[in-house]
Amino acid sequence: MIIIMTDPTTQQIDRILLKLRQHKLEANCLQSYGKTVITAIGNSDTYDAGFYERMPGVEKVISIVTPFKLVSREFRQENTVVTAGSAIFGGNAVAVLAGPCAIESYEQLYETAVLIKQAGACMLRGGAYKPRTSPYSFQGLEQEGLKILQTVSREVGLPAISEVTDPRHVELMSDYVDMLQIGTRNMQNFALLKEVAKSAKPILLKRGISATMEEWLMAAEYIMAGGNENIVLCERGIRTFETYTRNTLDLNAVPMIKYLSHLPIIADPSHGTGNWRLVTPMSKASLGAGADGLIIEVHPCPEEAVSDGQQSLTFSNFNQLMEELQPVAIAMGRSL
Ligand code: PEP
Ligand code: MN
Repeated sequence: MIIIMTDPTTQQIDRILLKLRQHKLEANCLQSYGKTVITAIGNSDTYDAGFYERMPGVEKVISIVTPFKLVSREFRQENTVVTAGSAIFGGNAVAVLAGPCAIESYEQLYETAVLIKQAGACMLRGGAYKPRTSPYSFQGLEQEGLKILQTVSREVGLPAISEVTDPRHVELMSDYVDMLQIGTRNMQNFALLKEVAKSAKPILLKRGISATMEEWLMAAEYIMAGGNENIVLCERGIRTFETYTRNTLDLNAVPMIKYLSHLPIIADPSHGTGNWRLVTPMSKASLGAGADGLIIEVHPCPEEAVSDGQQSLTFSNFNQLMEELQPVAIAMGRSL
């Protein structure tokens, strides 16, 4: 913490130094550019930066400790590796998750699963509870969809992931899937975060549509503080002023999160762009930025998809994507 003071009296400085000692912080007082600057080093749990901000003579307090702890790099220096069924996140191999936005039928999911597995994907995605912007849009096949997902996952031999939108569904969904997805709209649904924290399933935590990286890491902190350490972060695009793309895939987040946190991070160029034509180039860029994996929407017939068809890849586009990713993964010292 850095405390900046303007024209303080000796008494004001002494009072701060006394409080810092009481809070067991190591303090140093210096003059810089006409200001009095006090640096304080120590355990951030022992004090409240706001307290110092309120003290007389203080102009500003800069807190240089991160509010997230368990998910931080300081807490754990090594990269965390998360497994979900046979899928591994944060190892040498890049994890590619693929499948339709929404589960529509057994046939649709089975066909997709066979294709993506053959192309090298390691996990099948499919939404059963869809958080749609409009209440009139298709809401998902719900439990029926989960049954289809589990059947196909077993038949094809791919672990499954699906989005959980309601704390009351966590237990039910855990019987059907290998990993629970928290979607962008629920990143700060704290009741849901606390519930999945109690689950034995690994969690894919997508970034909120307007969330800062710090808010996102704090959401992960909720899950980890609640007892679930198996968290994978997913950059899925944020809302900006740009209208040619659905969202702006913020690839800054990939190396920044790697710097701040030990958790694996993947990218979602499907929702990040909203346009199937951009999915392949942005997938490559994601791997180039250091992402541990990708989640890609694939549909047997995107123009007929009930949800997110405009950003879904056809089977042949997905095959081509996987081929084109190969040299990028190798250039990054990873396998696919
Ligand atoms: C999805 O994965 O289909 C989805 C709804 O994602 P997001 O929460 O990122 O919008
Ligand atoms: Mn979708």
